Amino acid sequence: MRTPVIAGNWKMNKTVAEAVALASEIKEKVAGVENVKIIVCPVFTAVKSVADVLKGTNVKVGAQDMYWETSGAYTGEVSGEMLMEAGAEYVIIGHSERRQYFGETNETVNKKLKKALSIGLKPIVCIGETLADREAGTTEAVVGKQVKEGFVGLTAEEMKGTIIAYEPVWAIGTGKTATAEQAEAVHAFVRNLIAQLWDKETADAVIIQYGGSMKPENVASLLAQPDIDGGLIGGAALKADSFEKLVKF
Ligand code: PEP
Repeated sequence: MRTPVIAGNWKMNKTVAEAVALASEIKEKVAGVENVKIIVCPVFTAVKSVADVLKGTNVKVGAQDMYWETSGAYTGEVSGEMLMEAGAEYVIIGHSERRQYFGETNETVNKKLKKALSIGLKPIVCIGETLADREAGTTEAVVGKQVKEGFVGLTAEEMKGTIIAYEPVWAIGTGKTATAEQAEAVHAFVRNLIAQLWDKETADAVIIQYGGSMKPENVASLLAQPDIDGGLIGGAALKADSFEKLVKF
């Protein structure tokens, strides 16, 4: 059985003080929850402070991106090692906003993913089609390419240690959620593809989260689907009350 993973992507929101306050509230509200893995992903500048607040609790900390080198002349970048030192256990890689605005490609996703795995930083890799892709009927082709190219070269063990977040781009921050059936269809497609590219045991073990306007009102129907193993949540993760409801779906 796969343990659901509920992760909050705080995006470029919350000052350090605000992030610490939100983390403290969340910590209280979800104390004692054991049947769900809980992660919050603040901005880089707040990772250390949030990790200090959450140390020893059931809420883990992730960063929202990383670079694949350890250190050097890469102005503006932050390495996985630095994030781990600051207290991050997880890292989001290839979020659609990074693909859309910052030139992230399946190739850069693959480099970051391999680096994260090699140092023990647990990756959450985002995939998903745009509205144009969906309307053109190319959802499976696009998502399939993201899996084949983004995860190329991973061993079965590495694949099992990688969380996938299926996030249809048209559903992110738009209030439009994929229906449970639409989401399940892509999740099942991705799981089958992993079985083909690796093996069934790996496919059965891998966590595939849904992301895209997930909120307390739709979380239960999405997570009732056999291949949906949790959520990566933006907007609804910014308030402790709604995040608590998502965790306690
Ligand atoms: C996200 O940022 O990964 C996301 C799914 O955002 P939202 O929940 O706001 O759609």
